[in-house]
Amino acid sequence: MKQLRNNVIRAGLGALYFTGAHHLLRPIFAGVGTIFMLHHVRPAREREFQPNRHLEVAPDFLRAVLSHLRASDIDIVTMDELHRRLTERNFSRRFAAFTLDDGYRDNRDFALPVMREFDAPFTVYVASDFAQGAGHLWWIALETVISRTSSVEVDISGVATRFDTSTRAAKQAAFDRLHDWLRGLPGRDDLKREIGALCARHGVDEAAICHEFCLSWDELKSFSNKALVGIGAHSVTHCNLARQPAEIASQEMTMSRARIESALQRPVAHLAYPYGDKFAARGREFALAKSAGFKTAVTTRPGMIFPESADYLTALPRVSLNGNYQDKRILPVLTSGAATAMWNGFRRIDAA
Ligand SMILES: [Zn+2]
Repeated sequence: MKQLRNNVIRAGLGALYFTGAHHLLRPIFAGVGTIFMLHHVRPAREREFQPNRHLEVAPDFLRAVLSHLRASDIDIVTMDELHRRLTERNFSRRFAAFTLDDGYRDNRDFALPVMREFDAPFTVYVASDFAQGAGHLWWIALETVISRTSSVEVDISGVATRFDTSTRAAKQAAFDRLHDWLRGLPGRDDLKREIGALCARHGVDEAAICHEFCLSWDELKSFSNKALVGIGAHSVTHCNLARQPAEIASQEMTMSRARIESALQRPVAHLAYPYGDKFAARGREFALAKSAGFKTAVTTRPGMIFPESADYLTALPRVSLNGNYQDKRILPVLTSGAATAMWNGFRRIDAA
């Protein structure tokens, strides 16, 4: 199913490129700017089973994106500057902001050197538990468990269910099913408990995963002191905020900010909602982020920035640089707004 969806998206991007339809759509749907969303930036890995591949782009692809933007005379700005242009209605030049979620060490090792080549600022949204070494990167843990085993057994709603994970196709199918199940669990602790049990049964060390991939507080401190690097908040535990009671959702936002500010000794004014789709961040969360005093908050809803986005500063859409579509030819399509316009049924704002 996931593969089918990938193919449909790829065909859509390709069709837009080959028909040139994006040129026609650009004047209406390109908006005034773009917020790009990334996770990992690192060289491609060889292994066969990479169910989280959509979350990573290679340094070369990032370089191609930056080159394209520079050649198109688009300003690359910080989230503070994006906020300023939106609130002051300064749209004399098109702009793009780069945002990277979760706080991965490869952002320092691979993204920063490329961003420096273009003197391009970027914002890394940190989940404070990840920096603490106490985070549950359950999607990586699940990939690790499945990659190592030939079958996985879990209790789903009290029913012991066995998944074959002996071939690449079986591993992908098991991953998709278990990923959906884990993401659908109601509370913060349900997910923690289930992935914890699965890791314990298969000898996977969740804490080691967190340390392997995430910048620690010490590392973040020196990283955040470097030119071009901005730090934002991405909740404490990386939970689905829309599924939490209001009080917890609000705490997740404000406590992550407080922890980052005290560890890094710098103000944090911007937020990214974990998962960030319409099932994880909607009206209530947008209001909570606003009343918590964040200048902006970004979702993972696809879309361009329009002048009217100034009225929805805590519900900003982004354009994903998806690891499954690292093709330089799609760049003019992405910046034309044609792809996100199609996705959104040609609505410019989706902030409900
Ligand atoms: Zn995240």
